Amino acid sequence: MTYKYETHLHTAESSACAVSNGAEYIKPYYEAGYAGLFVTDHFFGGNTAIDRSLPWRDKIDLYCRGYENALNEAEKYQNFKVFFGIEQTFDGDDYLIYGPDKKWLLSHPEIETMTHEDLFDYANDLGWLIVQAHPFRQRHYIQAIHIHFRHIHAIETYNASNHRIENDLAAVFAKAYGFPTTCGSDIHDAANVTDGSLILRPMMFDKPLHSVQDYIRGVIHNS
Ligand SMILES: [Zn+2]
Ligand SMILES: [Zn+2]
Repeated sequence: MTYKYETHLHTAESSACAVSNGAEYIKPYYEAGYAGLFVTDHFFGGNTAIDRSLPWRDKIDLYCRGYENALNEAEKYQNFKVFFGIEQTFDGDDYLIYGPDKKWLLSHPEIETMTHEDLFDYANDLGWLIVQAHPFRQRHYIQAIHIHFRHIHAIETYNASNHRIENDLAAVFAKAYGFPTTCGSDIHDAANVTDGSLILRPMMFDKPLHSVQDYIRGVIHNS
């Protein structure tokens, strides 16, 4: 038995560039045979839909809404999990961070201005996972490609929204430096689960994931 998970997904509640709200993703992923998904909305260093001038508690409440709407919708389905992650941006580069939850975010407003290096130290202490998302992506809004040999635990070597050459370069980089790898779609529109415009590639495990920590262990030890 194989259990499939989407690891990189944006909701309109929280990501300015997303089309679909959290709840809209559940049915198509469930019907595509997935066992769950991670909501990884753009955090406040990236393309957030949240007004950055709001008080911290309000910002986090709004930031988590896409995840919470997905979680509530998933209760209608059997054995479909919704997990929480964030995508933070440093120097124009995106990093998927698995480990923090709403409770932690509420009591740690300093995360908003933490440097990449400081966040990495923090993540190590707490057993989190930092993945460099689509490291070789070239787009009009990306000024330069920054490769991080430090301050990451793994590299996203398949991103469905990337061009093939970008994924191929990421895979070469991860292999050369011995980084564990992940794959995800970076999906912003639930229609793309079935309309063929994205070729999804799930993370696959032979046991179901019960927690974000199960996923972190899976990434570190599977590769
Ligand atoms: Zn986006
Ligand atoms: Zn993303």
